[in-house]
Amino acid sequence: MNYYGNPITRLIEELAALPGIGGKSAQRLAFHIINLPRDEVAALSEAILEAKDKVRYCDVCCNLTEEDICPICANTKRDHSVIMVVEDPRDMAAYERTKEFHGVYHVLHGAISPMTGVTPQDIRIKELLRRMDDTVQEVILATNPNVEGEATAMYLSKLLKPLGVKVTRIANGVPVGGDLEYVDEITLFRALEGRREL
Ligand code: ZN
Repeated sequence: MNYYGNPITRLIEELAALPGIGGKSAQRLAFHIINLPRDEVAALSEAILEAKDKVRYCDVCCNLTEEDICPICANTKRDHSVIMVVEDPRDMAAYERTKEFHGVYHVLHGAISPMTGVTPQDIRIKELLRRMDDTVQEVILATNPNVEGEATAMYLSKLLKPLGVKVTRIANGVPVGGDLEYVDEITLFRALEGRREL
């Protein structure tokens, strides 16, 4: 299958290993890249390395950030007594776009999935429990409305409720089996407004 010589075959293989990029897309991207001026390719590869080197997890919420503490956790105008738990930084970004949520977040970086072997230890649950002091009034479970997201919400609710905190789950405005990242802002806002106590 080495039609193009080793360097381009290697580039295609690296690109094809990225999520959502199939073999054909990888080829298209690889040929696009080799046809770019060298300085544009350098800028692309530097951006990738810089993001990798500089981005880290927020000490509080595990969101991606360049600082020890992300801008949302550091913002004293936000309501730190309400924590919305999401699977992914992209879900957090989706809720931020609604401009209707003024609390803070916790990013799990995944969901519990016995099918793919993701256990509670593999996601940022320990870090969430560490945040549970008497200043926290409500934890909103905004994991995705699919099997893994529901399992994760159930698991967290069992851990959190004995701590005396109000635990809520976003409503079914979000399509079942859906991915929060792709849901429009109005639907996300309705799901938040219609959350129910667990
Ligand atoms: Zn943070």
